[in-house]
Parts: sequence; structure tokens; C-alpha cells
Amino acid sequence: MGSVLLTGGTGFIGSHTAVELLLAGRDVVLLDDLSNSEAGVAERIGRIAGRQPPFVRADAADRRALRRVFLDWDIEAVVHFAGFKAVGESAARPLAYYRNNLDSALSLLETMAEFGCRRFIFSSSATVYGERCPVPYREDMPAGDCSSPYGRTKYMIEEILKDAAAADGSLSVVLLRYFNPIGAHESGLIGEKPSGIPNNLMPYITQVAAGLRPRLNVFGNDYPTRDGTCVRDYIHVTDLARGHLAALGFAEAHRGTEIFNLGTGRGFSVLEVVRAFGEATGQPVPFEFAPRRPGDLPEFYADASKAEAVLGWRAEKSLADMCRDSWRWQQNALKQD
Ligand code: NAD
Ligand code: UDP
Repeated sequence: MGSVLLTGGTGFIGSHTAVELLLAGRDVVLLDDLSNSEAGVAERIGRIAGRQPPFVRADAADRRALRRVFLDWDIEAVVHFAGFKAVGESAARPLAYYRNNLDSALSLLETMAEFGCRRFIFSSSATVYGERCPVPYREDMPAGDCSSPYGRTKYMIEEILKDAAAADGSLSVVLLRYFNPIGAHESGLIGEKPSGIPNNLMPYITQVAAGLRPRLNVFGNDYPTRDGTCVRDYIHVTDLARGHLAALGFAEAHRGTEIFNLGTGRGFSVLEVVRAFGEATGQPVPFEFAPRRPGDLPEFYADASKAEAVLGWRAEKSLADMCRDSWRWQQNALKQD
């Protein structure tokens, strides 16, 4: 068996996926330009998994660097995590987002064709469902009505991959639409390290609990939800990582394009997450209500039944696990700084 190339392999989801693949006996090659992660993550992945994966520092849009990787290793599948992901920043720097996210996908596809590598797993997002889809989101709902340039890059790459698979019957494409990944590896060695002020809920909560920020701003308390705050489908990053292992197995046996939601199928409100965090960790999270954040949808969560039926995968970890592991990671991150 060859190796699985993980672009963005030292990032939040890529690093956890690397651990799960290594523990399952797969060989992986990590590729990352370190624009949003640190080289030390590669070593920590090796420490958790008990064997060190090779790490290549390169831009996933750089065809020469990619050719080098495909020459040096027998790459049998690519899981493409690399990309810019900040929704707000994508509105301010749309060209940087289109360039980085689209270019890397195209360069990978071209290089894979050259080397006969025919399996592509893509990190897409629930954001492609957009405003008009009713919840729970199902894979057969019409997508593309995205509210940010970031979301549009995901949708465009999905379309590019579908076209590529339609034109080449030997290609196997799996589009994974992630819901809201939080948590960290239970070892406390890897997790999400936002640079600057966190945009996302859980990193903000852990920084408040650690005393780095005075309080959480809860964006909006007048949404048409059970307590007025937004509802999301939070999934433990280790569960999400294991979904990739299942998707790789699927890609080995199928051709064409298949889409899977990776979520738990259950939504929690912002206030429910704040409460769960306090209960799971014993750390109170002071908060105050703030105006709605532009672009936020009131409520979305997955219909997770297709992944369970077809991939045999479902999320196992609880919201309490997610809170505890996020908090452990936050405490370790403080020690490392
Ligand atoms: P992350 O920023 O932690 O990881 C992405 C990694 O890609 C980083 O390590 C970064 O340095 C690297 N990278 C960026 N551009 C690159 C390039 N051109 N070449 C090489 N490396 C590059 O983000 P993440 O949370 O692990 O997300 C992984 C993927 O999942 C992304 O594509 C993201 O859009 C998608 N996704 C994330 C979420 C989420 O909430 N975290 C939700 C849905 C989808
Ligand atoms: N949120 C919040 N305060 C914050 C960050 C996020 O109230 O400091 C809310 C946000 O409005 C959304 C939910 O938490 O309803 C999840 O936001 P996140 O950015 O983590 O994920 P999104 O679903 O927007 O991708």
C-alpha cells in the first residue's frame, strides 16, 4: 500500500487525521506551507502515533514541489485540507482566498493525473448549503448559495472535482462537508491554535476560561431558536478525523463523486455550549450578549445518516468530551508559550 498525502497536514483537522491514519496502520506524508500552523506539530503527531510521518514544507499550489513529493513517495490518495479558512477575512481578501484555495486544488489534480493517483478526498464545509436549505442539511439538497468568498471557494472546488471525475471514469472523489469541528486530541499534544483573536466559539471560550480575555461576546440572542442564540452541529475533531479513514476506504472501492456530511446530527446553542463547558471543566465562562454577527445563520446541523449507512461511520464523542479536550489543550498551549 502506498502513502496518503495530507495537504494542510500540520493544521487542526489534518494533524488529527494524520494521527488516526497512522494508528490505523496507514502511511502518510504531511505537506504544509506553515501559513497557519507550526512545524513542531509534525513531531507531536509522531509522538502520539508512535511513528514519525515525513513532513514537507511546501505550497500545495506549487506544481514543482508536488511533483517532487509524488516522485519521492508512492502517493495512492490525497486528502486536501490545505486552504485559507477565515470567513470574515475572505470578504476582505477575496482574491487571496480564490488564488490559494482554487490553485492548490487544481495543482493537486493536475499532478495526480500525471502520476496516476486517482483518489481525492476534499475538506468541504456545511457552509455550501447556504441560507435556503432547511435543516437538517442533506447531501442531496441544492448547494452553492454561499454567503462568503470562503464558502464560494469550497463550492467551486466541489464543482471542479465533480467535473474532473465526470471526465475521467478512473477518478474517485469524496467531498466531505464538515460541520463545526471543536475539541482536541485527548493527549493534549495537538489542537487548534488560532493566531490573534479567535473567530470561532470554542477557542474564544477556552481563552476566556484561561483568563486571557475578560468575557465571551454571544453574538445575538434574538434568533428564532430555543434560547435565542445560534445553533450549530459541533463535532469532536477526533471523530471527524476518523471519518476520513472511512472515506479513504470508500474511495478505494468506488469511482465518481460522492458527498458526505460529517456532523453529529445534533445541534447545540451558544448558551448550551457555554453551560456544557462550565459543567465539564469546572471553569465558568463569563459572557454578555452582543449584536448579531453579520452572515451568521440561526441554526444548522447535519442529517448524518448517509455517512453512517454508507461509510459505517458516526460521531461517538459527547459535547462534554469536546469541552474537556479543548480545555486540556488550551492549558497545554499556555505551558508551551
Ligand atoms: P487549519 O488552518 O488549521 O489547517 C489548514 C492548513 O493548511 C494550515 O496548517 C495551513 O498552514 C495550511 N495551508 C494553507 N494554505 C496552504 C497552501 N497553499 N499550501 C500548503 N499548506 C497550506 O484549518 P483546519 O481547521 O484544519 O481546516 C482544514 C480544512 O478544512 C480547510 O480546508 C478548511 O477550509 C476546512 N474546514 C474547516 C472547518 C473548521 O471549522 N475548522 C470547517 C469546514 C471546513
Ligand atoms: N459565536 C459567538 N461568539 C464568538 C464566536 C462565535 O457567539 O466569539 C457564535 C457564532 O455567532 C455562531 C456560533 O458561535 O453562532 C459558532 O460560531 P463559529 O465561528 O465557531 O462557527 P460558524 O458556524 O460560524 O462557522
